[in-house]
Amino acid sequence: MENKKELKNTKKKKVVIIGAGVAGLASGIYAKKNGFDAEIYEAHSKPGGLCTSWKRGGYIFETMHWLVGTKKGNFWNKIFTEVGAFQNLEMKTYDEYIRYCFPDKDDIIFYTDIDKLHDHFMKIAPEDKKEINKFCKTVKKLVNFNYIPEKPRQQMNFLDNVKSAFKILPFLKILSSCMKISLNEYSKRFKNQQLRRAFKNIFLNDETSVFGFFYILAMFHKGTNGYPIGGSLEVIRNMEKTYLNLGGNINYNSPVKKILHNAGNVSSIVLENGKEIFGDFFISSGDLFVALESMLGIKSENSPYKDLFLEKNMCKPCFQVSLGVNHNFINKTNSVYRYLPLKETIKIAGHEFDILETHQNFGLPFAPKNRSNLVISYNHYSEFESWFEFAEDREKYSTQKKEILAITIKALEEHYPGISNNIETTDVATPKTFQRYTQSWNGTFNSWHPTPKNARSMMKQRPYQLREFQNLYFAGRYIFPPGGIPPSVKTGRDVLQLICKKEKKIFKAD
Ligand SMILES: Cc1cc2nc3c(=O)[nH]c(=O)nc-3n(C[C@H](O)[C@H](O)[C@H](O)COP(=O)(O)OP(=O)(O)OC[C@H]3O[C@@H](n4cnc5c(N)ncnc54)[C@H](O)[C@@H]3O)c2cc1C
Repeated sequence: MENKKELKNTKKKKVVIIGAGVAGLASGIYAKKNGFDAEIYEAHSKPGGLCTSWKRGGYIFETMHWLVGTKKGNFWNKIFTEVGAFQNLEMKTYDEYIRYCFPDKDDIIFYTDIDKLHDHFMKIAPEDKKEINKFCKTVKKLVNFNYIPEKPRQQMNFLDNVKSAFKILPFLKILSSCMKISLNEYSKRFKNQQLRRAFKNIFLNDETSVFGFFYILAMFHKGTNGYPIGGSLEVIRNMEKTYLNLGGNINYNSPVKKILHNAGNVSSIVLENGKEIFGDFFISSGDLFVALESMLGIKSENSPYKDLFLEKNMCKPCFQVSLGVNHNFINKTNSVYRYLPLKETIKIAGHEFDILETHQNFGLPFAPKNRSNLVISYNHYSEFESWFEFAEDREKYSTQKKEILAITIKALEEHYPGISNNIETTDVATPKTFQRYTQSWNGTFNSWHPTPKNARSMMKQRPYQLREFQNLYFAGRYIFPPGGIPPSVKTGRDVLQLICKKEKKIFKAD
């Protein structure tokens, strides 16, 4: 047990952080930059959380596909620079966001350059001229949509709110119309059957509202989205290095079991091994549901986050099949995703897919020379609870993983004949895998699934604190829905702004 007297005698106040994902690391970096002592307690043996990579054979597989903020000159890039995430990394830009490879028909390509996309769609579907023009015009308008306030919402004064409202005002009409319509409904505006199928399946879930898709394309067009070469591996290594160089402390293999509190203040956290850690401020950046229900003993339905955890609003977990292929033949085009429409529907863990979402990482160290890695993601899988129960049976679980792999490879053969003979390494990550490695409640990778019914309420940024506790803060993907790496980093920054305000310090970011 730590000596409480010793703690009181030290001049610097101590920030204790649960989790070394991007939100936890960012919290630690900003804590150190602002003169606090910082200690991170991480359950896993390495940092990164969901932003991670793993070695199989000579290959490295990872989770990051693209990021907003890879180009200098915008807020997201500014915060990535502040936390040192991109040090010495080259940025890759993409020519194509999604390429649908229809067998026996022209590919449908969502170019990242909207003018190019416009010309391409017009060639394929001149009958949809009016709708194509409207679509491109809307996306281009969103290029200037900048809704991210630099301060945390709680710290915004009247003037800040007025400024923010003025920024959003010109986009209100687009926002409300795009949020209210699902991809399925939107796709019906196109007469061309290929275009219709392409729009409907953008997120492989046609209930999703179109706004997110429009915004992503707008940011690609602006050149703000890309991929730091080296991916999660390098970004996390850089953030960890920044934190350690600032004098921060990380304790790996240190799962936190409880957050202890007394009379409106958190006093300490207790590790699985029984060790009690004291501090002045506490930031929980692991799974919010777990923090509330297991660590604090608070029912999530009595919290300001209750609607996030409703099954209908939750972003569902995913399955990721990663393959190491002894051939350099797959992604000859520069696309984030290649969607491979299938002749027949396949069933993955009880859920039907008629398109494979594939993604590749680039060059070394992901694949040895002249070889490729290929990642297939099955997103928005529903009924996760029953699947978790089933995954408790190790034999069934292992059989199911083998089945998922076999079905995937067979489906790939349709597009890449002979690929089965060239696969050297395989890996199947399930929601259970993500849960095991990140202690996430349901193995999901983000916080909510935006549909026309919930988009408006889900877009609200969530409070960083519960009224009950003065010195406890939450950071991470739930607090800035829908999550993702950049918003999670921002939550760490925001929390430190709030702590600095409380301590009457001027927040330092650089
Ligand atoms: C397959 C996949 C693809 C993705 N693709 C992208 C992408 O292309 N672009 C993008 O922006 N985002 C992407 N994401 C989402 C992104 O990775 C996450 O939203 C983001 O990394 C979340 O960060 P976080 O710090 O909030 O949470 P987490 O990453 O979950 O970090 C929480 C950390 O806390 C630790 N922890 C939890 N409980 C405890 C405990 N009790 N004690 C100690 N430590 C604990 C965990 O081990 C973990 O390290 C993807 C995610 C997945 C899974």
